[in-house]
Amino acid sequence: MRIGYGWDSHEFKSGIPLTIGGVTLAHDKGLGGHSDGDVLLHAITDALLGAIAGPDIGSLFPPSDPQWKGADSAVFLREALKRVTAAGYELVNLDSTLVLAAPKIGPHAAAIRRHVAELCGIAGDCVGIKAKTPEGMGTDNTAIAHVTVLLQSKK
Ligand SMILES: [Zn+2]
Repeated sequence: MRIGYGWDSHEFKSGIPLTIGGVTLAHDKGLGGHSDGDVLLHAITDALLGAIAGPDIGSLFPPSDPQWKGADSAVFLREALKRVTAAGYELVNLDSTLVLAAPKIGPHAAAIRRHVAELCGIAGDCVGIKAKTPEGMGTDNTAIAHVTVLLQSKK
């Protein structure tokens, strides 16, 4: 078995859509960054790559490369899953914690869980989606995601 850990953060910016876990949430700000800024999919991608000791998301998809401008982050996740398969592993489950002041994730957690499970090809009850507000951290204009994954050998 292999364990992987991923972390990511993006700053909130006005006038762009907010996409978390591939789900667009109604909010007055979105997450900036070169791709669609999907902080959760980026952390999942890095956790998967870390579990197989692969290159990180920034090495595979450099922000300096114009082809990733506004990119759908599902593309990054699919590449990581492809590498996991090529390494002889499959994803068992993943757990995540989002840290953001707003919007509230609770009402959207089921939709995010469903979408992430579908993208990853695992059951919904194998995807943990938790959220906390950044008490005392001074990061109210930032969304942060922590993710752990467990892989098992297919052999
Ligand atoms: Zn990111």
